[in-house]
Amino acid sequence: MSRPWGTRHARFVSSNRAHPVHVLIAGGGVAALEAALALRALAKDRIHVELLAPEPHFWYRPLAVAEPFQLGEVRHFELSKLAADAGATFSPGELVSVDAARRLAYTSPGGAVPYTTLLIACGAVPKPAIQGALTFRGPGDTGKIERLLAEIEAGEVRRVVFAVPAGAVWSLPAYELALMTAAWLATRGVTGVEIGLVTPEDEPLHLFGREASDVVRALLDERGIILHTRAYPAAARAGELLLVADGIVVADRVVALPRLQGPRIGGVPQTFEGFIPVDLNGRVTGMSDVYAAGDVTTFPVKQGGIAAQQADAAAEAIAAAAGVDVTPHPFRPILRGLLLTGAEPRYLRGDLAGGAGETSRASSEPLWWPPAKIVGRYLAPFLAGLAGTGGLTEPTSESGVPVEVELDAGAAEPRRDRLIESAVDDALGEAPVARVGAVMSTDPLIVAPEDTLGEVAERMRERDVGSALVAEYGRLIGILTSRDMLRALAGRVHSSEARVRQWMTAEPIAVSATTALEAAAILMTEHHIHHLPVVEGERPVGMVGMRDVVRSASSGFLRGIGLGF
Ligand SMILES: Cc1cc2nc3c(=O)[nH]c(=O)nc-3n(C[C@H](O)[C@H](O)[C@H](O)COP(=O)(O)OP(=O)(O)OC[C@H]3O[C@@H](n4cnc5c(N)ncnc54)[C@H](O)[C@@H]3O)c2cc1C
Repeated sequence: MSRPWGTRHARFVSSNRAHPVHVLIAGGGVAALEAALALRALAKDRIHVELLAPEPHFWYRPLAVAEPFQLGEVRHFELSKLAADAGATFSPGELVSVDAARRLAYTSPGGAVPYTTLLIACGAVPKPAIQGALTFRGPGDTGKIERLLAEIEAGEVRRVVFAVPAGAVWSLPAYELALMTAAWLATRGVTGVEIGLVTPEDEPLHLFGREASDVVRALLDERGIILHTRAYPAAARAGELLLVADGIVVADRVVALPRLQGPRIGGVPQTFEGFIPVDLNGRVTGMSDVYAAGDVTTFPVKQGGIAAQQADAAAEAIAAAAGVDVTPHPFRPILRGLLLTGAEPRYLRGDLAGGAGETSRASSEPLWWPPAKIVGRYLAPFLAGLAGTGGLTEPTSESGVPVEVELDAGAAEPRRDRLIESAVDDALGEAPVARVGAVMSTDPLIVAPEDTLGEVAERMRERDVGSALVAEYGRLIGILTSRDMLRALAGRVHSSEARVRQWMTAEPIAVSATTALEAAAILMTEHHIHHLPVVEGERPVGMVGMRDVVRSASSGFLRGIGLGF
């Protein structure tokens, strides 16, 4: 049988003899460019860097929120030119799968690219999260906001709500859109329009710390924007936004941020949402010579500055592993953001080291330089350098609030499965309900992450089951299904070499024996899965299937809940 993947090995080796180390960076966005620039600065010409991306342009997206208000313009740049300026090469293509044993990256439309080190910086894909809402994903959605503004101005829309869904999102654009809409209406003398902002956060932009939250709350207040915190938007319909588990906010139109998902890449561990687990140096859990940085990783804050810091940490580790004299610093996230408001500037700084923003402060000076929306050690000055040649127009201090705060590197977004469970429990109240423990099977197949796919396939066949739970030191770390086996086969891996860890779903959605069956049903329906692992603490103790749940769940409840997570 002929191999579908062509290989460029011979071409690469012959053209790059001077560079024994070939770092392949999958991606052409913030993390990819920052890593390429960092590697050039650290290793000069000792490392050859190749960028691989399906899209030939680098998009500078933050100003997408300003575009509908004519306060900024989204710019894009030729990646091949940027790569050349960063001392790298650019190849069009999409990373599809990784064969770590052979150090080959399989790409679409077809090809196998050899690497010494692979850095995955593929970003995340925005998916609509709230049914019936207008999803604002970025540059492509400017027209939708412009049309909404025209409808408001014409008096056809009187109540607008900006909604932040639960899950992995960068909430800042929702605040910016709400504030800029209010400012835009005020300058046009349009009155009587109700603007709301619905967010699961405890405080507005809570990640930035207390003082930033206070300033943002005051700004929202000044503009008459009604804030609903700790509220989970579910679906927009007929003049209202439904909340989970109950409650509504009246709204003629709902503008929602998307939920982000990582692109599926075979041969690397990914969570159910497609995010890749990494250590503080950017190394993909359990793999050697494969790193990841940016929105594609499991770090919950999906932001350009954070992506750049992860890229810097990975670049240092990659350079050190290649023999460059550098001490790799672990990722230590500092969140810096410039909040576009369309009005007076306020500079804020928060330091979370002592707790939730207690030491944050306000200032009238920029907190980083150049004062860009996306803050990258190498990328920001690099992009600022393009400004002279018609590059970026950054917002001025008249229209922004810069904020800076140190985050916990191990920070984790509250898991959606836990949020759903507690929302269901709240809604069920004291009513007696059936729990997972009553229907689960208690003898699941448990395998180890370093087992080969061949070994596990054999055990699945013997036990006649379609999935196996993956445990490490007694802790559930993944689930492997027969579908994953098929993906691996399609990826042309050798079943005696490929390891469970590379093909499993990492950090799977799980329930406990005390979870209400309704919650289990919602989780399975929302995620289109038929089985859920059951854990006690972190230890796998069983499996529950959709059939068991549907047979036993009390009826009626499922219809009103579960959207929007
Ligand atoms: C409207 C909006 C406003 C924002 N505002 C801000 C802001 O003010 N400040 C801020 O810091 N951040 C902001 N962000 C977030 C910021 O844009 C992202 O966090 C950042 O771009 C993430 O960088 P990344 O390199 O991980 O991914 P991206 O920059 O998205 O780059 C991903 C790259 O990977 C490529 N790719 C995709 N799939 C594959 C594949 N399979 N193989 C190879 N390549 C692939 C893509 O083509 C792209 O080149 C905003 C985002 C949006 C949408």
